[in-house]
Amino acid sequence: MNTFQIQILPLDLPLKRRFTISRGSRDEVNNVLVKIHCQGITGIGEAAPNHRYNETQESAMSFLDSFGSYETENPFDISLLVEKMGQHGDGEFAAKAGLEMALYDWIGKKLNIPLYKLLQAPGRTGPRTTYTFGIDKPEVMKEKVEEAGPYPLLKIKLGTEYDKDIIEAIRELTDKPILVDANEGWKTVDQALDMIRFLDKRNVFVIEQPMPAECVREMKEVRLKSTIPLMADESITGKESLQELSSQFHGINIKLMKTGAISTSLKIVHQARKIGLQVMVGCMIESVIADTASALVGLWADYADVDGHLLLKENPMEGLEILPQGHIRLRDLPGLGLQ
Ligand SMILES: [Mg+2]
Repeated sequence: MNTFQIQILPLDLPLKRRFTISRGSRDEVNNVLVKIHCQGITGIGEAAPNHRYNETQESAMSFLDSFGSYETENPFDISLLVEKMGQHGDGEFAAKAGLEMALYDWIGKKLNIPLYKLLQAPGRTGPRTTYTFGIDKPEVMKEKVEEAGPYPLLKIKLGTEYDKDIIEAIRELTDKPILVDANEGWKTVDQALDMIRFLDKRNVFVIEQPMPAECVREMKEVRLKSTIPLMADESITGKESLQELSSQFHGINIKLMKTGAISTSLKIVHQARKIGLQVMVGCMIESVIADTASALVGLWADYADVDGHLLLKENPMEGLEILPQGHIRLRDLPGLGLQ
């Protein structure tokens, strides 16, 4: 029997600048560092709890605290841990993702193999990542465009009264392709279609979650008429039927903190591909630890948005690399490749 000791620590991460989306603003994110220890090897993970799903740093820590230690005959069968966490309680997907990530890191270190090799990823370099702008007044966009300097793709958060002004302000400064994330901010079919027509003329290549997740009927209509690929984000947590989602969206944005596991995310990626859905891999505002795990899944994706760690004042470690042209790349080191 192998006994894993689980160590949890608050991971408070100040942001370079205030980050606003349609649901609110933050200057700091409060995540959780997860370490598991067994046989003299430590695996590292991170949970980035999300208020949208009723998770907080406290709730994630209390879930992991009450989970206690992990005993297993076979630490290499990740599904045993996923099953045990599921039995321990509902929800708390960020906490579950943090612990599974740590066990994966441990497995890679124990076997002395990078996870991208162990999981047979297509390579260690993935798609280009976007660089995200939170919501801000159009007049602040100049500073932000400068900040985004080397990154070739922009992700712009919308869902305000002045969405068109934000886009116009950016377009006066740069013609970089834009991914728009409305975070459920457009409330009617007419508003969504009006924005899509506007954005289609301004080099926008994807729109994430135009309308609220509960607007299923409305989204079916929007999808039929949209000239830009639409990605489900808030509409997918991992339990939905992908077939049903494909009538509302052209693709799905998979996030570890919503599915609760790397293994579950990879299953969803493969199922989505089978029915012709496009795949995007996203992140929360998280450090390079969780972003490296997200980027691992991103090796199979069409689009990557794993820039959470770029928005932080500083990162606790080094991991995921972003190449000069914006492509994500995992390090050739055991486990997640964190240092
Ligand atoms: Mg999103």
